[in-house]
Amino acid sequence: MGMGLFDILLILVKAMITKSSKSIFSKPSHIKEDYKKMSQVSVPGLVPQKDGSFAIFVEVPKGACPSADDLMVLSNMMKDLNCKVHLTTAQKIMIFDLNEESGKKALEMLSNTGLYAKTALDLSQPRVCIGKPYCKLALQETFPLSETLMEKLAREPIARKIKVGIAGCPACCSWANIIDIGFIGVKSGFQVFIGGHGGARPAIGEKMGMITTHDEAVDLVRKIAKLFRENVTKKSRLERVIKKIGLEEFKSAVGL
Ligand code: SF4
Repeated sequence: MGMGLFDILLILVKAMITKSSKSIFSKPSHIKEDYKKMSQVSVPGLVPQKDGSFAIFVEVPKGACPSADDLMVLSNMMKDLNCKVHLTTAQKIMIFDLNEESGKKALEMLSNTGLYAKTALDLSQPRVCIGKPYCKLALQETFPLSETLMEKLAREPIARKIKVGIAGCPACCSWANIIDIGFIGVKSGFQVFIGGHGGARPAIGEKMGMITTHDEAVDLVRKIAKLFRENVTKKSRLERVIKKIGLEEFKSAVGL
């Protein structure tokens, strides 16, 4: 069985305990000193944070780290660069409390691994639950669809945020029903939910059809990403773009 998020967390927490007994929220002095200077830096992959430090967001497809060796690189990074790690709700690894110098070193360390640090606004890993054959309630496998979407669509540029979720059954542990594009496993395939999102005014996606093959899912996500790119305005999510285009026109444009 592949290494899951719990295993990743365990290894990283062990590394943190070994390194220091300081709180994860205490800020190293080298970060405090360089805040103003650092906010000017623009290095692809280094994301400025509100406190002036930088973070790196590493993809974790299927929510499972590809190799134990890559985890060791993360562990060494925490020890050598005095940075910290957070597992995000989007199933990514956030490496944070970096300055410009340590951030560049972290990116270099990542370049020698199978881990991918996001450097641009593009389609990313879907958020997935564990699915078949591990979960007793699952009606569909989730990893193969996630793998196909990553293989065919990762790095497809998008104008703004567009998120994809996959759940192995209608229980939706991966919140595939409150995300821009959700695939929810049922006996005969995946129901498609579109236009959901979290935030201050969360919305449940609207059920708009079914897919029975991975190719159909790839085709659908690609068409929606294109339509989104062409129609998005500042800060809009997919739900607003659909309202702007009109539901029937949207469905017909993406083949639903
Ligand atoms: S959504 Fe369904 S298949 Fe996925 S973890 Fe939850 S109960 Fe299991």
